[in-house]
Amino acid sequence: MSSRILYTKPSITELEVRYATDATANGWGDHCYDYINRFEAAFKEHLGVKYTIATSSCTGALHMGMAALGIGSGDEVIMADTNWVATTSPIVNLGAKPVFVDILEDSWCIDPEQVERAITPRTKAIVAVHLYGNLCDMDRLLAIGEKHGIPVIEDAAEAIGSVYHGKRAGSMGAFGAFSFHGTKTLTTGEGGMFVTNDPELYEHVLTLSNHGRARGQTKQFWPDMIGFKYKMSNIQAAIGCAQMERIEELTSRKREILATYRERLAGLPGISMNPEPKGTVNGAWMPTVVFAPETGITRENLQAAFASENADARVFFWPLSSLPMFDPVLKNIHAWSIPDRAINLPSYHDMNYADQVRVIAVIKELLNG
Ligand SMILES: *Cc1c(COP(=O)(O)O)cnc(C)c1O
Repeated sequence: MSSRILYTKPSITELEVRYATDATANGWGDHCYDYINRFEAAFKEHLGVKYTIATSSCTGALHMGMAALGIGSGDEVIMADTNWVATTSPIVNLGAKPVFVDILEDSWCIDPEQVERAITPRTKAIVAVHLYGNLCDMDRLLAIGEKHGIPVIEDAAEAIGSVYHGKRAGSMGAFGAFSFHGTKTLTTGEGGMFVTNDPELYEHVLTLSNHGRARGQTKQFWPDMIGFKYKMSNIQAAIGCAQMERIEELTSRKREILATYRERLAGLPGISMNPEPKGTVNGAWMPTVVFAPETGITRENLQAAFASENADARVFFWPLSSLPMFDPVLKNIHAWSIPDRAINLPSYHDMNYADQVRVIAVIKELLNG
């Protein structure tokens, strides 16, 4: 049987190993924050924002940012029904209610019109998730937020490398959150980043991130409020520093893989893939194919065909409102229909062209079958 094609795998070079080894050997005592400070600075520079806080996960960054915005019991947070559960958990854990609205058919990101309709006096925030690297319609979402006095949060976990009319994903909302989980384009094993341009929000999250100990507090072991413990370690940050030095290489390779799939597949009838509207750059975290209903191709067909080629086939996110913890929102027609006829394609950095050809052949065969 031919070798297994994984859907993701980090790209780790001698540089990551060298920095992690150095952090392990020397990054203690007076040097225990060196790589963390360097990683935060590099990320700030890359994104073009004023403030960054490295965290242990994107979920942690979202949790602290949402807490700092005052989201709590009785509040509602509007988000797309299509997403990983990680964005929802902090909302529920803060005692608020996620309000799931439909996605757009072409970008698979939140539909601004549905957002506007879902606003109530209890709405405390809108979450824009740049799904698979595809960009949300930020102009419209920010305008809606401004009109109603509601902050827009960017979950940019999947969107490093994505640019919206000159602004990087994650840099446009009240705050942005990134993930460096092992499946993401830039990885530290586990990890995340909170980013913002708002000095007050930054100070608040900085305090929350340090067990509620304010930066100016001179009394030792004296928290001023109950906070969180979602810190990144210096060793993880060392890996992150190496990955940041390679960020252009990491994101451009993702784009190259998507471009190859697009060239070979997008012209086929009944297929749509990650869009890249004029004025935007798609970071291409997860090349995805959606099949039109008339093709008759289903998630199950796709999984079986990929399995027989020894290739990973990652399912498109289930609607969050279909999970047992929530009430189904059946009017979210795209969120409920697309996952039945879509698949994420393998796209790891070191994947070779021959493996992409194998994946392309599986899809062509299914379409002709
Ligand atoms: C991966 C991911 C997260 C969670 O990131 P963690 O670092 O695992 O907490 C959140 N939101 C989206 C959209 C993701 O893809």
